[in-house]
Amino acid sequence: MHTQADIINFWSHIPDLSDSLTDEDEEPPDGRIKTLDADACLLKIPPPATLFSLPSEASSVSPSQRNTFRKTFYPGVTAKQWNSWHWQVANRIRRGDQLGRFLQLSKDEELAVNGTGTTLPLSITPYYLSLLNPTDPEHPLRRSVVPTTGELTQGPGEADDPLGEDNQSPVPGLVHRYPDRVLFLVHDFCSTYCRYCTRSRVVGHGTINPTTARFERMLDYIRRTKTIRDVLISGGDPLLLSDDRLEWLLSSLRKIPHVEVIRIGTKVPAVLPQRITPALVKMLRRYHPLYMSLHFIHPDECTPETTKACARLAGAGIPLGSQTVLLRGINDTAETMKSLMHGVMKMRVRPYYLYQCDPITGSAHFRTSVKKGLDIIQGLRGFTSGYAIPTYVIDAPGGGGKIPLLPDSVIGKEGSDLLLRNYEERCFRYPDVV
Ligand code: SF4
Repeated sequence: MHTQADIINFWSHIPDLSDSLTDEDEEPPDGRIKTLDADACLLKIPPPATLFSLPSEASSVSPSQRNTFRKTFYPGVTAKQWNSWHWQVANRIRRGDQLGRFLQLSKDEELAVNGTGTTLPLSITPYYLSLLNPTDPEHPLRRSVVPTTGELTQGPGEADDPLGEDNQSPVPGLVHRYPDRVLFLVHDFCSTYCRYCTRSRVVGHGTINPTTARFERMLDYIRRTKTIRDVLISGGDPLLLSDDRLEWLLSSLRKIPHVEVIRIGTKVPAVLPQRITPALVKMLRRYHPLYMSLHFIHPDECTPETTKACARLAGAGIPLGSQTVLLRGINDTAETMKSLMHGVMKMRVRPYYLYQCDPITGSAHFRTSVKKGLDIIQGLRGFTSGYAIPTYVIDAPGGGGKIPLLPDSVIGKEGSDLLLRNYEERCFRYPDVV
């Protein structure tokens, strides 16, 4: 497991960023990580139910409720501290007894967070915690990060590595599935762990470390394999590396002539938007063409903080795409999905993929039928602009890669004419060329 010292070590060579910051709410001026004596202040507060009265049907947390959260649980924490990513990571919630002070835990949540058996650790940044409904266990964001006992049951067809990544790894940390691109897993650390994570078999276990020797072996494979023109950096979350470490990796990749495109996959703008500092984007913009895939699951994640983070990335000329996992009870209606897609577009993020949830061990409570996914796409097509519609895919179990799925729109053929169905379920004829 990563210790606090390990994590702070990752950052220990970050230069003092304060000179380059324009906003007063960024890093602490001395660059040091200030931790909070959370136990000392939390013990004095009343239980969550008496602080908020949120009806479960109006589950989203408003800006004023978020302010109440901060004032109540972090009264001595300055805006500078709260808006520092170092502070957010150093003070993330990692134990069941801590969580119970912020949220009114259901019996099922209590059993899961205090028991043993979940492979994925608990971790939630104070920022993301402030977005959770403290009294409603069904709140979409809460379900995505608070463990439940559903994780403990292995359903039919579920596996720890359903995508067969371990079998397609020529060098530890590198997945080479498609001819022209590789997945580069930098480490196994995220600030907030998603309970449906495809890589829950490895993330948070502290076994994949971002050492130079490990990176060099992966880079060497890329140097030797001239068909690789696209590298997707993922993890764990790559943006949890220090600016220096990330820059070292990006510059090493840029020195390889056949690597045309670099992509970064991250959930940081949603769970730790404070990480998107001016210094980070100033560094990133030196490595174009650089793309980013941002992980969002629900419109509640489209906050002012996240909007600001995305604006900084987009302002640095980084094309942003969204990746969303289809999750039962979280985003499995056309209405919620449309609202999410509109939300990300307003943040200058182009909807990219909607993933059918992978059959990882303990995921049955998150997975929907494929028909549900197709119905959602059907509910978007024609009812919003094509830009707002992600490609719905199944990542084929066993390593078959992404397979796109579309509702049937060709409903028949008469002679050379194709019979097509439009979004209003009306039939049209197209004279096809034979
Ligand atoms: S951010 Fe990505 S890698 Fe990290 S826990 Fe969530 S899904 Fe997994």
